[in-house]
Amino acid sequence: RPWILGLTGGIGSGKTAVADHFASLGVHVVDADQAARWVVEPGRPALAQIVAHFGEGILLPGGGLNRPALRERIFDNPAERQWLEQLLHPLIRAEVAQHLALAESPYAIMVSPLLIESGQYRQVDRVLVVDVPESLQVARTAARDQTSEEQVRSILKVQAAREERLKHADDVLVNDRDLAWLKGEVERLHRFYLTLRGGRE
Ligand code: ATP
Repeated sequence: RPWILGLTGGIGSGKTAVADHFASLGVHVVDADQAARWVVEPGRPALAQIVAHFGEGILLPGGGLNRPALRERIFDNPAERQWLEQLLHPLIRAEVAQHLALAESPYAIMVSPLLIESGQYRQVDRVLVVDVPESLQVARTAARDQTSEEQVRSILKVQAAREERLKHADDVLVNDRDLAWLKGEVERLHRFYLTLRGGRE
């Protein structure tokens, strides 16, 4: 099986830009956030269990999950939150594992903004952190999302401290130059990763 690289970084650090370039080099990429959405799609057993637990009010008219309604139900309700996490976490793990197993590249990438906070870093063979100075992170995210720098700063506060992320990093990509340079760095890392067995030197 391919070895697994966990890719993480703060909001607007450049995870997507980095993952997209690895993918263009032929590396199989799985996004943990996407997997979390797939497990509750209509027709999947988890959605039926959520409806049985919270009632039909948790669905949109079209039959899909009403995420804001669900968020409301678990907000400030640790018991309900725990029920939901116990249902979804194993399913998300299985979904990610299933997609990673399809990889034909020598290594595969799991992108997860919460790789460290969720403990998922323990399930990967190596951790790559995309890091940027906070001022750049705030400016790029505000420009991309057309929101205020203040709004971005409030999101930063609830994410794992940069130091905590860096503590778990095997490799750090400092994304403080232009996109062409970033691609070159991804290619350099890719060549290095191809020399590894099981993600280790
Ligand atoms: P999020 O966690 O919010 O999804 P992310 O970590 O995936 O963010 P990206 O979306 O890849 O970050 O990058 C944030 C923004 O910064 C994007 O608009 C991206 O195009 C831009 N960006 C990323 N790297 C660079 C760079 N080196 N130079 C200029 N712009 C960049």
